[in-house]
Amino acid sequence: MNLNEAVLLHKDAMIETLRQNLRIPSVQGPAEPGAPYGAEVRRSLDHALETAEKLGFRAVNVDGHMGWCEFGEGDEMVAVLGHLDVVPAGDGWSCEPYGAEIRDGKIWGRGTTDDKGPSIAALYALAALRDSGLPIRRRIRVLLGCNEETGSADVKYYLAQGGEVPVMGFTPDGEYPVINGEKGIINVTFSRTYTQDGPLKLVELKGGSAPNVVPSYACARFECEAGLADRLSQLYAPSMKFTRTPAGFKAEAFGVSAHGSTPGLGENAIGRLLMAMDNLPLSGDLADAVHFLAEKLGMETNGSSAGIYLRDDVSGELTLNWGTIEGDGEKLYLKINYRYPVTFTYEDCGPKFKAQFLDAGFSLDSEVHKAKLYIPADSQLVSSLMKVYRQQTSLEGEPKCIGGGTYAKSIPNLLAFGPIFPGDEVREHKPDEYISIDNLVKNAQIIAAAMYELAK
Ligand SMILES: [Zn+2]
Repeated sequence: MNLNEAVLLHKDAMIETLRQNLRIPSVQGPAEPGAPYGAEVRRSLDHALETAEKLGFRAVNVDGHMGWCEFGEGDEMVAVLGHLDVVPAGDGWSCEPYGAEIRDGKIWGRGTTDDKGPSIAALYALAALRDSGLPIRRRIRVLLGCNEETGSADVKYYLAQGGEVPVMGFTPDGEYPVINGEKGIINVTFSRTYTQDGPLKLVELKGGSAPNVVPSYACARFECEAGLADRLSQLYAPSMKFTRTPAGFKAEAFGVSAHGSTPGLGENAIGRLLMAMDNLPLSGDLADAVHFLAEKLGMETNGSSAGIYLRDDVSGELTLNWGTIEGDGEKLYLKINYRYPVTFTYEDCGPKFKAQFLDAGFSLDSEVHKAKLYIPADSQLVSSLMKVYRQQTSLEGEPKCIGGGTYAKSIPNLLAFGPIFPGDEVREHKPDEYISIDNLVKNAQIIAAAMYELAK
């Protein structure tokens, strides 16, 4: 039997199963015995594993952290990794977020594309592949995660328990065609204490909301005697505003927000503020700290003044986003998010970046590194997935690299493949999330064909 037809035989059951699961609001909740991510997430997992059993597969529950089912034989295993946890519904829906309504050929609800639709599609794809009788020489495992949205502790637990690592596989939790590279991501927090002994005193410094967002606003408040305050509050600089206050003046900087993985699309208000402050008559080692930050970071987005500029042809430049700053008269903190190209490693930028801050009197308060992922375009995995994509959609397209991180990073040998097609409206994490029934079926067919291609 043709594999696409074998998938179509499961269409009605797949839609019904997805709707049942969508009615379970599997947002992370308080941990309970057997339900490390809350009772609703556990219910969603139980429902998916019961479905796998009904389809005839052996289903395994990994202590409520995740679950899996498998088909086939052989020493090697290929995996499809999906997740059943969802982000909170939020406001602004035109329908019930957990109602699983069908309207206009679409299924509506939280999790339809991210990632219950693709996860349930993977179960039926596995059943269709079995029904087709096509010969395979590797086992195929559908892994169902429960904590993708809030830290991927699910896969960490699976691996820590000795869970089998696939020889290759994919997660339908990104987009088509294939994301074969994801930059390495480093989040650092530095702090520095300082003295001030001149007539102008910084008393408050604030800007930004999160390390992975380009800040659109930053503000510094100063105290000084009236004559100096009158003079400095008359300053002018583009996208800056200086205002007299009762005890001195304040300086505000305006920027343009953007995602931290594409800082070049924004304008960094913190960098703008610090560069302006570098021209003020500051004193003590505050002056040194501000000068260092203005010179090494400023409004730059590729790390060149900080000496860590890197670039490759597949993923472009290193990107750097100065996400937050917070300070008072004695100490400041800053958070930076930077991402190195996929053919480089942490060693090519991390140590050098840190050393400069330490030399300039800063302390490293925290550093979190998520390594890059890169599987070359000529590898078997990427070429097989591209072949399936082209055959199933009649679309061209090339594998691509991104600055963000997907679920693929959580387990070795995986990359993101689907479920969103080029030009599709992206409603993940937004109100009115939906998946069209056509796209659900197409995803199941692509997943089945990819399972076969990787396992044959
Ligand atoms: Zn997801």
